[in-house]
Amino acid sequence: MSLQPVRGTHDVLPDDGRRFRTVTETGRAIAERYGYHEIATPIFEFSEVFKRTLGDTSDIVTKEMYTFTDKGGDEITLRPEGTAGVARAVISGGLSQHLPLKFFYQGPMFRYERPQKGRLRQFHQIGVELLGVAEPLGDIEVIALGAAILSELGLSAKTRLELNTLGNAPSRAAYHEVLVEYLSARRDALSEDSLVRLERNPLRILDSKDPRDRAVIADAPGFGASLDAESTDFFDAVRAGLDVLGIGYELNPLLVRGLDYYCHTAFEFTTDALGAQGAVIAGGRYDGLISTMGGPETAGVGWAAGIERLALLLDGTADPVRPIALIPLGTAAETAALPLAERLRRGGLAVDLGYRGNLKRRMNRANKINARAAVIIGDDELARNSATLRDLDSGEQTLVPFEALDDRLASIV
Ligand code: ATP
Ligand code: MG
Repeated sequence: MSLQPVRGTHDVLPDDGRRFRTVTETGRAIAERYGYHEIATPIFEFSEVFKRTLGDTSDIVTKEMYTFTDKGGDEITLRPEGTAGVARAVISGGLSQHLPLKFFYQGPMFRYERPQKGRLRQFHQIGVELLGVAEPLGDIEVIALGAAILSELGLSAKTRLELNTLGNAPSRAAYHEVLVEYLSARRDALSEDSLVRLERNPLRILDSKDPRDRAVIADAPGFGASLDAESTDFFDAVRAGLDVLGIGYELNPLLVRGLDYYCHTAFEFTTDALGAQGAVIAGGRYDGLISTMGGPETAGVGWAAGIERLALLLDGTADPVRPIALIPLGTAAETAALPLAERLRRGGLAVDLGYRGNLKRRMNRANKINARAAVIIGDDELARNSATLRDLDSGEQTLVPFEALDDRLASIV
């Protein structure tokens, strides 16, 4: 039996966990200010949910899904992303009667990819979905929400917004033709994967990370010339809204979401600080998704962000609460310390009870856990119904009656 974690998975130890929670809790709190409330869908779904929504030509479906047959014979997939599950929940729960819907989600996602910094097989995302708003205001709102979370995390200066439009369905179809013509003339320079994509889903090629494809894509025509008036107006409205909000962006004519139901706005918040794993938030408008799954025509726009990537960008770790080290010496003191520790904790203090060793050893532990103060109880103290309180920052030491401890400790932590 191997005792290594499975490749591409990791244990989230307490320091990392604090960074994770900073991202998740900030995301949730800011999302709630925008009226987005948390939804939690199952971590696995019938494989069909992802195959239908992600399309059988996507990298995720062709290469990256963790799929298995369960004991009842159902084909199950660990979710590789969050939108499909939310869309499924909207349909199966009959929630479309209550549009618009605004959801926040967070949790683990699973993709069989080549692990590297910022790229894991079990990773975590926060995300938002806005359903039932077909107007550009929806796009503006979810982008503003992403920007607000980055700002609250102190990451505005490390990230920038890239923006593009795919236009409506006719514009997309027009672009499709232009792109296929351009790429077909350069077949020889494309990767093998992209030759397949050229037949099945050429837009995906713009997403390719293969250097051969990147070279061809660099000079590919952008969407601009293929956009009709409706598409241009929509994009202009989104840009005007971002301008009003003072949210800066760069146009990236090659930024796409490769699936059929994506339309209009595509965007990414990216960073230079994580090498090739530069996308921290990625999103777009997906008006055709719910109907593709068999639900009613429903507009949708949203994004997902990689928690690990955001956590890597955070400066320092949030400091854990500094505890009080409670150090009873001897059996009688231990008996007195037990209820005292409980009482202090109920009062809101973090109390670490020292279990064994001499005073020196327990003081070392108190320093190691960065305790704010030590409360030492020996026989002498016990006889006087008091404890020795040592302030570990100043070194000052005083005798404090048990009943006065709560207030004294509360005043220094
Ligand atoms: P990439 O281009 O980096 O592969 P993607 O287009 O596959 O990203 P999305 O499916 O749009 O990513 O997911 C949204 C976000 O989730 C990404 O911007 C990234 O921050 C994060 N993410 C995606 N895949 C991984 C992974 N394997 N490990 C860690 N984070 C990931
Ligand atoms: Mg990917």
